[in-house]
Amino acid sequence: MTKIENLVRQNIKNMCGYSSARHEYDGSAHIFLDANESPCGELNRYPAAQQDLLKRHISQIWQVAQNQVFVGNGSDEAIDLIFRIFCEPGLDRVLSFTPTYGMYSVCAQLNNVEMIEQPLNEAFDLDDSVLDDVLKTDGVKVIFVCSPNNPTGNLISPAHITRLLTAFSGLVVIDEAYIQFSEAASWVKLINKFPNVIVLQTLSKAWALAGARIGMAFAQPEIIALFNKAKMPYNVSLLNQNAAVKAIQNQIEMTQNVKLIQAERSQLCAVLQALPYVVEVYPSDANFILLKVDDADALYNFLCAAGIIIRNRNSQLANCVRITVGLPKENRALMQALNNFKN
Ligand SMILES: *Cc1c(COP(=O)(O)O)cnc(C)c1O
Repeated sequence: MTKIENLVRQNIKNMCGYSSARHEYDGSAHIFLDANESPCGELNRYPAAQQDLLKRHISQIWQVAQNQVFVGNGSDEAIDLIFRIFCEPGLDRVLSFTPTYGMYSVCAQLNNVEMIEQPLNEAFDLDDSVLDDVLKTDGVKVIFVCSPNNPTGNLISPAHITRLLTAFSGLVVIDEAYIQFSEAASWVKLINKFPNVIVLQTLSKAWALAGARIGMAFAQPEIIALFNKAKMPYNVSLLNQNAAVKAIQNQIEMTQNVKLIQAERSQLCAVLQALPYVVEVYPSDANFILLKVDDADALYNFLCAAGIIIRNRNSQLANCVRITVGLPKENRALMQALNNFKN
């Protein structure tokens, strides 16, 4: 079984995390002269460094203990912290399955850690032969699995993720940024079963809060304690903590929005399938659709000229574009424009 302390960088083990003024005191004072804040104004106080109220709400909704949650300035902060805590620059390696989310390799470069890019199979999934290769690769500390995967949209088969979690002796990060758009179960429920898993979720997609930059990492308390030690002291603003508390209290609205987007997604897929220049519509478990066309650049430019921006993935995947599912009227405008495109 993986021992987390054997995976942590020595400097992180040795360091003593910043202890903020408010951190050292946990009574119930009403005059705060400890943190050099202004006594005037409304946003004059530092936010809760450990986001206690927000974490209390998250722990109830996601059904985990509060010490199994890290809250970051977007899940991108959690991705960066994984490198800083576990990966020795110039020495350790990490691995991701491509094509996938760009921030894993951006953070790898930022932290001077080698990223091994292992292609997914033809169905954009893992299989035993891919995993055999991965498990033979030396020096890998962390493996990133994005499920549902961005930009392909599909879920990664749970059986193969389970094999990875069981057979790999490093950390497995499962990025579930789009899990609410899928019918599949989240891996958050299994953090007690797999001590080497870190599950990432975000309020940026289904929870409609990208502007507030709130991401979560779920893992066993030993891992979360390391995140808390290595993070900047006040990494999530008071405004954003409050916005997050408000948003996650409205789970019904989130679910309704997700249902709407799922319905729009299937309608959009059907229209896309019928277009003569569409080569393939890939199945989606997310709030976007990956599409292979005759000429991705031409389609992208045509839609730009019509005031509709999609994501051109031609450089990553030949002639593929990624289209985010929007509001019904936005999707109708898109479909109309797509019908006018001839190449
Ligand atoms: C959008 C996205 C995120 C979210 O990042 P935030 O920093 O929380 O906004 C994470 N992972 C993937 C795969 C994404 O597509």
